[in-house]
Amino acid sequence: MMNIVLLGAPGVGKGTCAEVLAKKHSIPHISSGDIFREAVAGESELGKKVKQYLDRGELVPDELTVEVIRQRLEKDDCKKGFLLDGFPRTIAQAESLKKFSKIDHILNFTAVKKLIVERLSGRRTCRKCGAIYHIKYFPPKLEGVCDKCGGELYQRSDEAPDVVMKRLAVYEEQTKPLIDYYRNEGTLTDIDANYPAEEIGKIIEQCEEAIKNG
Ligand code: AMP
Repeated sequence: MMNIVLLGAPGVGKGTCAEVLAKKHSIPHISSGDIFREAVAGESELGKKVKQYLDRGELVPDELTVEVIRQRLEKDDCKKGFLLDGFPRTIAQAESLKKFSKIDHILNFTAVKKLIVERLSGRRTCRKCGAIYHIKYFPPKLEGVCDKCGGELYQRSDEAPDVVMKRLAVYEEQTKPLIDYYRNEGTLTDIDANYPAEEIGKIIEQCEEAIKNG
């Protein structure tokens, strides 16, 4: 089975790797952050409930988050495996996950804080097609304009400097304890994510190795 969890601070690069891994193994990439952001953008009932938390960089309450993920994992496309990105984020979420799913591999992405802050605060997103750029590491040809569709690039509200700092503090406080929790269970592998975007292959290799050996 290939039920995989990617653990790590926001901005560590796990989302990008998740997309590559999911495609390679033909399993769905399930990002709790993406689910919530889409709900907010679509102004759904869920979106209305979670917007305030996302805007502040705080965690959505466990009960609601767990229910959203539980329902997502019940879908047919998860039968052969899945890649969870951004869930679980608290010990309580991990305990709940254990009750409805068995996780085979936990990949713990690590990078130095300076790199993480730089990545998060330099990120720009296209309003029209969602493409992601970085002002230093992956700039568009024309400043503020999407290469792919010509749409306007903007900084996500939860990537404004003060919210970035809040999200990192929340990670330290609430999510980091999960590293020891899973390490004690023996399912965790550390992934060194201190590589620039063009060397993503080096990170993917470590993930593949962990999946193979796990
Ligand atoms: P992310 O893109 O994974 O950093 O998630 C963006 C935001 O969505 C977070 O700052 C939280 O407000 C919310 N969120 C995502 N995943 C979770 C989770 N597992 N538990 C609680 N809140 C979450």
